[in-house]
This record gives sequence, structure tokens and C-alpha cells, in this order.
Amino acid sequence: MGVDIACVGFGPAMGGFLTTLSRQLTKEDGTPAFESVAAPGMPLQVICYERADDLGFGVSGVVTPGRSLRVSFPGLDPAQIPMAAPVKHETVAYLLDPVGASRRSFALRAADGLLRAFRWALPVRNHAFELPWIPSFLAKHEGLVLSMGQFMQWVGGQVLGSGAVQVWPSTPAAMALIEDNKVAGVRLLDQGVDKQGNAADGFTPGMDIRAALTVVGDGPVGAIGQQLDDHFGLPDGHHQHDWAVGMKFVVDLPAHAILEPGTVIHTLGYPEPEIFGFLYVHPGRIASLGIFVPSWFDSPVRTAYRYLQHWMLHPYLWRHLDGGTLRSWGAKSLLESGRRGEPHLVGDGYARIGEGSGSTNVLTGSGVDEAWATGVQLAEGVLELLRAGRPFTRENLEQAYVARRRASWVERESRVAERARDGFQRGVVTGLIGMGLTGLTGGRLNLPGKSMPPHRRIPTVEDYCRGRIPPEEVARIRAECKAKDLPLHDALMDRAGWPAIAFDGKLLVSQQDALLTGGKVQAPAGYADHVVFLHPEVCQRCGAQVCIDACSGQAIMPGPCGVPIFDREKCIHCGACLWNCSQPRPDDPERANVAFRAGTGGLHSAEN
Ligand SMILES: Cc1cc2nc3c(=O)[nH]c(=O)nc-3n(C[C@H](O)[C@H](O)[C@H](O)COP(=O)(O)OP(=O)(O)OC[C@H]3O[C@@H](n4cnc5c(N)ncnc54)[C@H](O)[C@@H]3O)c2cc1C
Ligand code: SF4
Ligand code: SF4
Repeated sequence: MGVDIACVGFGPAMGGFLTTLSRQLTKEDGTPAFESVAAPGMPLQVICYERADDLGFGVSGVVTPGRSLRVSFPGLDPAQIPMAAPVKHETVAYLLDPVGASRRSFALRAADGLLRAFRWALPVRNHAFELPWIPSFLAKHEGLVLSMGQFMQWVGGQVLGSGAVQVWPSTPAAMALIEDNKVAGVRLLDQGVDKQGNAADGFTPGMDIRAALTVVGDGPVGAIGQQLDDHFGLPDGHHQHDWAVGMKFVVDLPAHAILEPGTVIHTLGYPEPEIFGFLYVHPGRIASLGIFVPSWFDSPVRTAYRYLQHWMLHPYLWRHLDGGTLRSWGAKSLLESGRRGEPHLVGDGYARIGEGSGSTNVLTGSGVDEAWATGVQLAEGVLELLRAGRPFTRENLEQAYVARRRASWVERESRVAERARDGFQRGVVTGLIGMGLTGLTGGRLNLPGKSMPPHRRIPTVEDYCRGRIPPEEVARIRAECKAKDLPLHDALMDRAGWPAIAFDGKLLVSQQDALLTGGKVQAPAGYADHVVFLHPEVCQRCGAQVCIDACSGQAIMPGPCGVPIFDREKCIHCGACLWNCSQPRPDDPERANVAFRAGTGGLHSAEN
């Protein structure tokens, strides 16, 4: 099939692109502004393919300064958008360790001791120290608390209502059609195949969608973005080493909760010092809350789900949550390399927008505003080229899109942020000092730190536990877990002193219950597995098997002969396995031994 513009992924970046483009595709008299080249006599054919089963199922992100959104929607009234509220109160809190199980360095223990000793003079309540002042680079005054799922459905309604573009959910793009270094469109996913992708009953090969321009906005772990990076490489000096998984709950707050809509709470320090938390309050006594587990948290058992529960149970947060009910949950990777993870933004026949194009600001922790802005910038450039009748070559896209992006606040602020997180490579305290320095000096001062691919950072379980659990005990726990086919992290956390979670069946539920009820995970039959262990012999030699412990959906489990088993039914498409593997690929040491490909299914919730 031929179209003029094929788009991949319907996240905020594509929201910005299609909102801006669709408004200019019809003249005031209702006639098309541009004629299609792919289908002469027809209006310009623009189609967007979204992997998830409905609009807004594949996105996240909830507090945003909303600068670019307000430019696209002047006079934006949050009351028009479900679950939206203007930001009202912002707090940053350092959480002390109330259970004594957190792995705290000597420096942090000393700081905790001082805070506890001077709590009569300092704002230390409920085992937390509220920062008296929020640095301007972190503040989101005049911003918006949003459910991105709900926001994207609202945007989708307007874009589709224009009648000028189409958005097809439940349609993953499997690969880009690359011909002589030019992107000529995309191929959709094969249907009617077995788990390995071999033709089976009802085989339907993925359709080729040929397009003059392919817009790639498939987020941080998208298959098309990964393929383009493999094919074209990254610009010199760029890397995509830094990642995080964000896991969140959407919760009905209990009747006694006093948090107002628009409340924004950010936390640091607990359950492990490397883990950051957030709680944002929507109208209707609903909150989005969760944690970020970064790739520089050097743990081979960095499971997010149990840590999220310990975080909720911290007295500073639990006083607001006790009695609440889980509505839905989800997880998603964030590419935290920022500007240094930027790929080639354009080439003949294609352009990259959003987080996969390195737009996320790693100093301010803002991704939505930037992603949206890059989509708007591309749309303005595309309209300029369409009006001038110029083709979508690398050179023309450089002039029309990349130049706009370079001249914008997105580029200016991403340059400031570029080295903000380097210090975290050397530990959390260095990292926080480094971020503060970068933020307060506008990027002029930074603390250095050498970044490396996540798989090179991951220590063995024995090294990780050294000084707290003797190696012979680790060996015993490992053998017991192996005999029962259980992941290691729960047993190690129990041994490290983390109390068992007292499930209440409402908010504190097992991961399996969250998968089955709150998350509504589904995987249609007839598609290949999208998570693939590339070299099984490497898995057999792998000691840590981080992919199992770090899987957000318990979709990767211990398997026979040492090769893990992937269960598509439980996969929530967070992409964390892509960077939570401790072994390099034999043929590409920069990358780990897992492939995360285009796939169907995942979570059915438009609230995440
Ligand atoms: C838990 C969490 C909390 C966050 N909180 C904030 C916040 O408070 N503020 C903020 O500014 N940012 C936040 N972020 C970051 C923010 O979500 C991202 O920066 C932003 O969503 C990036 O937008 P995007 O359009 O580039 O990509 P995405 O939002 O990732 O959208 C990409 C889309 O492409 C689709 N897709 C992927 N592969 C394919 C394929 N092969 N074919 C078709 N479609 C495909 C995906 O399903 C998805 O819908 C948060 C992220 C997480 C995970
Ligand atoms: S995928 Fe990576 S972490 Fe998992 S078993 Fe294989 S080599 Fe080890
Ligand atoms: S298998 Fe699925 S749920 Fe597990 S880490 Fe990978 S993408 Fe996430």
C-alpha cells in the first residue's frame, strides 16, 4: 500500500506532529490543501500505526510544565481533559529508612543520623525531610498533572475528528523498509505465525506501507528506532547507556485523604537511595504514583514491583494511601541518555521525534513537553516542504526540521542538561550534587562520571550482597530458589531485612493479581514472541539472569537448561528487558543478549 506520510507510534511526540499537521491539511473552504502523490486525485494520505490495542494504552508521564501543549492549545482548560489538573502544591521529600533494610552508604547514614538528631529544628516528619525550597529546574509551577493515556485519547479524538489523518491502533510496525540507505516506509507485523515467527494457520504477511516520509515516534524502546540505530549508527560520541524503568499505580485515594488535585510530591532516598518516587493527584480523589529504578542502580536483582510496595508503605506516603484501591498499573522504560542519546534525527525519507530522538530532558525530568515540541517542529518543517513542493530528503529535512529544533528551547535546555546526571555513575550522593551543580549553574559546572552499557555495570549477586549476606548463604538461597523455580529477588530482600508485604487485596496485591485485575494484560494469539534471548548459550553461562528478576510483569521466568522462558501473556511491554541483561551480545558488545521487537498486546488501561 502507498501513502504519503507513514507514522509509527502515537505518543505525545506524534500527538504534537499530527495535531499541527492535521490543522493545515484542509483549506478554509473544506478542500484539501495538498494532493496525494501516492494516490493522485486524493488528499494527502497520512496514516499513523500504533502498537498498543487502543490510543493512549502505550504511554505514560503525568506532570509537565506543558509549555508546548499550551502553544498547541491556547487557552487550554484542564477541566476539558479527563484526569487533568493545574499543578497546585509541589514538594520534594527525602525519605529516611524506617525499616533499616535500605543499602545506605556511610555518607547517607551520617546524613540520616543528623536529620533525625535535629528533627526538632528541621521539617522532619513521618520519617521524611521536606526540602524547604524546590530548585527552579525541578519546579513545575503553572504546569499540569495529566494522565497521558487520557490526554492522548483526548488528542486522538481531535486529530481523528479533523478527518485529515488516520490513526490505527493495534497495528505494530515490524520494520522499516530501508532501500539504498533511504527509508521507503514500514512493514507491519506478520499475523498467523508461531512463537518463533514461522508461518502457521491463517498466516498473513505484514503489509508493506510505502511512504515518501516515515515519521518515527515509537518511544525509547521502539523496534523501528532500534533498527534505524543499528543501520545508521549513532552520531560520533553519542550513546544510549542510561535507562530507567518507571513503574506506576493509578489509585483511588481513601476517603480520609486530604491531598488536593494538582498536588505533586517527588521523593528520593527510599526504598534504596537510587530509587526516586512520585505521587501526583488528579481530580476525583485519584492519584498516579510510582518509582523510577535507574540502570545505574548496580543491582542484579533490581525488581521494581516489590520496591514500589515498600515505597508506598513508607509512613510519609502511607498516611495518604492506607485504605486506597488499585485502579490500574503499568511500567515503561525511559531513555535517560538525553541529548547524548540523540540518533541521526533525519535521513532520506525519515525523521525521528520524541524520546527515541533524545528529546527527554535529564535535568528537569521532563519528557512529554519536549516530545510534543519535537513533533510540532517536524510538522512545521513538513508543511514548509509540502508548500514548496520539495522532497523529503535528508538535506531538506535538516533545513526544515533539524534547524527548527536546534534553534528551539528543547535544544537549548537539553544542552544545559547534557551532563547533569554524569555524577550518578559514581554513586547517588555524587549524582545529586552533580545535578544540583548543573541546575544551579545553567550547565556550566558538572560532576564527571564515565557512562557504560548497563550490562557492563551489573555486578554478580555475590558482589552485590558482599558485606551483608555471606557468599555461602547467597549460594544456599540461590539453590533453593532454583529448585522451586522462583526468582531470587524476593528471597534476597527477605534476607536483607525487608518485611513481608501484608497484602490487603485492595492496594497491596501480589504482582500476579495486579497483572490479572488492575493491569488487564492481554496478548492476542497468532503473533511471534517479541522478547527473544538471542544467544541461548550465553544465557546458559549467565550467572545473574537479571532479565528474570527485573521483568516488570513476571513474564520472564527460569527455564530448562538455563535459558529463560518468555510468557507473552504477562508482558506489559515496558522494554526493561532490553537493558536488564548482564551479558553482551557476542556479535555486538555494545548491546545485551535480549532483543525487544515489535509486538502486540500489553496493558489495557488508558489511565496510565
Ligand atoms: C512511569 C513514568 C512516569 C513518567 N512521568 C513523566 C512526567 O511526570 N513528566 C514528563 O514530562 N515525562 C514523564 N515520563 C516520560 C514520558 O512518558 C516520555 O518522555 C514521553 O511519553 C515520550 O513521548 P514519545 O511520544 O516520544 O514516546 P512514547 O510516549 O513512548 O510513545 C511511543 C508510542 O509508540 C508506540 N510504539 C512503540 N513501538 C511501536 C511499533 N513498533 N509500532 C507502532 N507503535 C509503536 C508505543 O506503544 C507508544 O504509544 C514518564 C515516564 C514513565 C515511564
Ligand atoms: S537474557 Fe541476559 S540476563 Fe537473561 S539469562 Fe540471558 S544472558 Fe542472562
Ligand atoms: S518481558 Fe515484557 S514485562 Fe518483562 S521486562 Fe520485558 S517488556 Fe517488560
